[in-house]
Amino acid sequence: MRVGTPREIKNHEYRVGLTPESVRELVAHGHDVLVETGAGLGIGAEDSEYIDAGATIASTPADIFEKCDMVVKVKEPQAVERAMLREGQILFTYLHLAPDPEQTADLVKSKAICIAYETVTGTGGLPLLKPMSQVAGRMSIQAGATALEKAHGGRGILLGGVPGVAPGKVTIIGGGVVGFNAAQMAAGLGADVTILDRDPDVLESVGTHFESRAKTRFSNKANLAECVAEADLVIGAVLIPGAEAPKLVTREMLKSMRPGSVLCDVAIDQGGCFETSRATTHEDPTYVVDDIVHYCVANMPGAVSRTSTYALNNVTLPHTLAIADKGWEAALRDDAHLAQGLNVWNGQVTYKAVAEDLGYEY
Ligand code: NAD
Repeated sequence: MRVGTPREIKNHEYRVGLTPESVRELVAHGHDVLVETGAGLGIGAEDSEYIDAGATIASTPADIFEKCDMVVKVKEPQAVERAMLREGQILFTYLHLAPDPEQTADLVKSKAICIAYETVTGTGGLPLLKPMSQVAGRMSIQAGATALEKAHGGRGILLGGVPGVAPGKVTIIGGGVVGFNAAQMAAGLGADVTILDRDPDVLESVGTHFESRAKTRFSNKANLAECVAEADLVIGAVLIPGAEAPKLVTREMLKSMRPGSVLCDVAIDQGGCFETSRATTHEDPTYVVDDIVHYCVANMPGAVSRTSTYALNNVTLPHTLAIADKGWEAALRDDAHLAQGLNVWNGQVTYKAVAEDLGYEY
């Protein structure tokens, strides 16, 4: 099969669909790979690395869309890319169609075979989303630690403390993938960590894993109020699948916090779990409300494009190879989890939740 990766064109997207190492694997399986010139620059991979791996460099995205049987990307195709998709072509990327009727209409019109990373299932959870939550969870402590520095508006707290000085207190709301990874980083730094969740199984597994390195509390109003009031850094990491995030930290609660404390709302992509959250960007990541510093970047993994691209390729490559080796129909027939990724095919929306949300026949 001929597989292609264009340069990502969404604003400030530095990741890339295929790493040179993934290209090498595809080539070893007998496939032709086309990579747009400069596609890897955001992860520090020059065209020469792709050539060494066996790729051919294409000078324009049109070359990729014209010549390739499958296009592998990171972000949803932008309007100019959608216009280049054609009938029977396979598109494998994040799509997030439910809130995006315009994109959905274009994909339906294209009659391409659109397989979305975010709806591919696995044994427990969504394996093609998980690495980005791991990245965001780990980054949240880095971002929070920076915001706690005096010059960035924070209280002037070093999360790990030093011998003779108490460490900072980190409250993590939600002990799922983001929360667990945030706790790993915070506990690793030596911070005083508390994780709140509503799911007893999550509390048990997190408690067993961290033992004395992190406390667990049931997430009710009283415990939340107490843990938020005493925290130097609060991480918002809740998710109620398919729903907007609940506003668990109210503006009123900010008054109970010490000035210069930091709120980091990782759940901002679902509307945020703090009442005072609004989405920010990597260029201008923080703002202050009632003396509390807020960090609410909606696409955190984009800032660590190299790590994120490699983490993403680790989970997408086996599927990319299966589709290339067997053809999409056999690959999806053989793997019920991958089959869940099919969102649009032959001019129809084939993913129930998207069809229902956007009024397509299913
Ligand atoms: P997850 O499903 O693994 O974990 C969510 C946890 O929240 C679950 O354990 C659940 O029990 C818990 N929860 C639900 N309601 C709660 C409540 N009232 N109090 C305490 N805990 C509660 O989800 P995840 O992968 O960890 O993702 C968390 C959020 O981070 C999601 O909104 C996700 O979209 C977002 N995210 C954002 C970025 C970013 O760049 N900002 C990147 C990745 C993920």
